[in-house]
Amino acid sequence: MTEKVMIFDSTLRDGEQTPGARLNLEEKLKIAKQLAKLNVDIIECGFPISSPGEFKAVQTIAREVKGPIITALARAVAADIDAVWDSIKEAERPRIHTFLSSSPIHMEHQLRKDPETVLQMGVEAVKYAKKYTTDVQYSLMDATRSEIDYICRVVESVIHAGATVVNIPDTVGYAVPEQFGEMIKNIMNRVPNIDKATISVHCHNDLGLAVVNSLAAIQNGARQVECNINGIGERAGNAALEEIVVAMLIRKDFYHNLHHDVNTQEIYKSSRLVSSLMGIPIPVNKAVIGMNAFTHSSGIHQDGILKNMQTYEIINAELIGGKAGQMSLTARSGRHAVRHQLNSLDFSMNDVEFEEFFSRFLELADKKKEVFREDLEALMAENITHTDPTYTLEYLQTVSGSKSIPAAVVKLKKDDEIIIQTDTGAGPIDAAYNAIDKITGFQPRLENYNLRGVTEGRDALGEVSIMIEYLDKTIVGRGTSTDIIEASVKAYLNGINKLLTLRNNGTGKA
Ligand code: MN
Repeated sequence: MTEKVMIFDSTLRDGEQTPGARLNLEEKLKIAKQLAKLNVDIIECGFPISSPGEFKAVQTIAREVKGPIITALARAVAADIDAVWDSIKEAERPRIHTFLSSSPIHMEHQLRKDPETVLQMGVEAVKYAKKYTTDVQYSLMDATRSEIDYICRVVESVIHAGATVVNIPDTVGYAVPEQFGEMIKNIMNRVPNIDKATISVHCHNDLGLAVVNSLAAIQNGARQVECNINGIGERAGNAALEEIVVAMLIRKDFYHNLHHDVNTQEIYKSSRLVSSLMGIPIPVNKAVIGMNAFTHSSGIHQDGILKNMQTYEIINAELIGGKAGQMSLTARSGRHAVRHQLNSLDFSMNDVEFEEFFSRFLELADKKKEVFREDLEALMAENITHTDPTYTLEYLQTVSGSKSIPAAVVKLKKDDEIIIQTDTGAGPIDAAYNAIDKITGFQPRLENYNLRGVTEGRDALGEVSIMIEYLDKTIVGRGTSTDIIEASVKAYLNGINKLLTLRNNGTGKA
């Protein structure tokens, strides 16, 4: 019998703390549903006390996403725990996750409380949460910079108070594998009531060790790992979910006493969805899911691969659902074929949404000979973020070239009003953005600009993701088109529309 390692996904909580990776409710729900298909054990979907918008997103996920345990984060205070419970109580299997620091530096300088008081607060928080539900997780923030004797006392006390999962986070990414493994082993050996709870870990990647620290922990008794799709998260990110689950599978000779229940066939799709909705590109050399992860360029390696795949390839792209079936659609494919492909990609939409999608598909198919799965995914991702735009693009014309003054004419629609502006700039994109700023009255700062070809070929769809900052709010905007200037303008408008929605909802960030 192998023991199960629970996979706890925090893409929608810690992952969403990535600068600019803010998602709207529809986007969060879409990711949560995909995580359920990936068959993770627990979805942590937010920090409900932080804003009404966050609360509503957690509540919607708790109501609609079936399968995994649904949890959300609370500081060790009653108001936070109340907010978590109110938002998750309709889930099939709700869990309250509460946390408090355990390191001397945090207790002295941030909490300004002595260790005994902090321990008592933790115990009280667990007891309080326990009034609502049986499944309560307690995290010792900054555990890896805490004293082991103190950690053991806290773990014992919170288990005694009713915690069913105790998490040992490497909050600042300070741990090294042998030492961290030893720490987990110590906790397992020294805490007398340890059999009444599951030990979890939550590792950050500041030293590039998040995955290996997580693996060291499960070797030493941890049976829950917190991790995020594509390794996104605060600062250098969290342990990458896909790397942990694939490592456990490929090296099951080594992890022979352990297993997880993740459906690896859904990894590719989950990874692409998170990347495109959050506007965070996947590095080409990223383990397991990077574009080059299955590309062999050395002559000796290619020779070996042609003779036998196993000579130089330990992971098969099919394992993660990564082989894009060679299907392609054209302008003559018709509604039925397009709908069929969308269904096979698990995109469902009603007839009205489909008609709108189909007209955008035809527009693309006119410009591009073949439309691939990646193109459909890009169009769909654009669809999700287009919830009630304030401004829509009616017309765009730009001038650029050597020795010319870059200029743009932009026509936008707002409600029933059509507004036209022209401007110049350092290049055609700058000129168009300047014209848009004249219309909207905003002047957001462009912090980041990324352009990616969705597929191969000169007629490929260009996908632009940008990060804009305006009055302390950082927003990701996305746009796609075979014309990269149009894609850039769409991304800018998408960002501005999101900014306006955010201002109307008045939500803040955890
Ligand atoms: Mn974290």
